[in-house]
Amino acid sequence: MTAGLYSARARLRVLLLERLAPGGQVLTTDRVENYPGFPEGISGFELVDRMKSQAERFELPIRNEEVMRLDLRAEPKRVFLPHEELEAKAVILALGATWKKLGIDGEGLFTGKGVSYCATCDGPFFRDQQVAVIGGGDTAMEEALFLTRFASKIYVVHRRDRLRATRLLQERAMDDPRIEFLWETVPTRILGGSGVEGIELRHVRTGEVYTKPIHGVFVFIGTVPNTQLVKGQLELDEEGFILTDQNMETAVPGVFAAGDVRSKLFRQISTAVGEGAAASYSAERYLESRGHH
Ligand SMILES: Cc1cc2nc3c(=O)[nH]c(=O)nc-3n(C[C@H](O)[C@H](O)[C@H](O)COP(=O)(O)OP(=O)(O)OC[C@H]3O[C@@H](n4cnc5c(N)ncnc54)[C@H](O)[C@@H]3O)c2cc1C
Repeated sequence: MTAGLYSARARLRVLLLERLAPGGQVLTTDRVENYPGFPEGISGFELVDRMKSQAERFELPIRNEEVMRLDLRAEPKRVFLPHEELEAKAVILALGATWKKLGIDGEGLFTGKGVSYCATCDGPFFRDQQVAVIGGGDTAMEEALFLTRFASKIYVVHRRDRLRATRLLQERAMDDPRIEFLWETVPTRILGGSGVEGIELRHVRTGEVYTKPIHGVFVFIGTVPNTQLVKGQLELDEEGFILTDQNMETAVPGVFAAGDVRSKLFRQISTAVGEGAAASYSAERYLESRGHH
């Protein structure tokens, strides 16, 4: 959205392609408290809505289409949509990331029937019920805290003996009487009939296996990059994130990347926004250098 906004405002001939709704992961975020400019916090939905209105003010065209294939080495580059093929002199990849799956029995079977990757989306279904949150990072803590509005009890299942989450979130979660931590524990199976009824857990040191009766499992164990489209065309790190230089340029001329899809340490809205702006500027300079402006 930011790359699109900057490009439209710079009067480049730009098109934003989005397969779902513009906004990406922010749409699934209940409250954003760390994005500057909103001292009281802002809902993810409203932040997206504001970004979209701002982009539209500069006449950014947005098309609701999925990019099925890319040919980034061609000149111009080729972008394949389901029923159409586009050409572009430069491409900015802001493909984002998707939640990692646990890969245990019952996860696939109960996805959408008790297994969820978005507390904001599904939390209200678990009013007065017991749920498990898997993970120990910032997102796991934020989502566990959000679930305290609905669930009667939240087990936080974490494979280590301490959290990765920031201090403030750790303190809030540990102070909440509805949250109970199950340390050095991993889920091994999700149990149920028509919906989730329990979770089988294993203590990583003692090897003890036991079950807890729960109706929901919320999984927040990190993300995988949406880079299927560019495999074999761009340099990726071991986890599949796109490598760029500090100006968001990939090794392929005219191809830029920004946001969660990039190989980096910290994945937030503020970093994605900053990189989107930098990618647009780099693309503009690239086009100028080629006499394309
Ligand atoms: C539950 C949750 C809570 C979070 N809380 C916070 C928070 O409080 N503060 C904070 O700063 N960050 C938070 N984050 C992280 C933040 O949302 C991300 O860092 C940020 O959204 C990354 O933006 P992005 O544009 O790089 O990627 P994304 O938001 O993942 O957007 C990528 C977009 O690309 C689209 N796309 C992918 N492939 C294709 C294709 N082939 N064709 C067309 N479109 C495609 C996707 O549909 C998606 O809309 C949270 C994330 C989650 C999931």
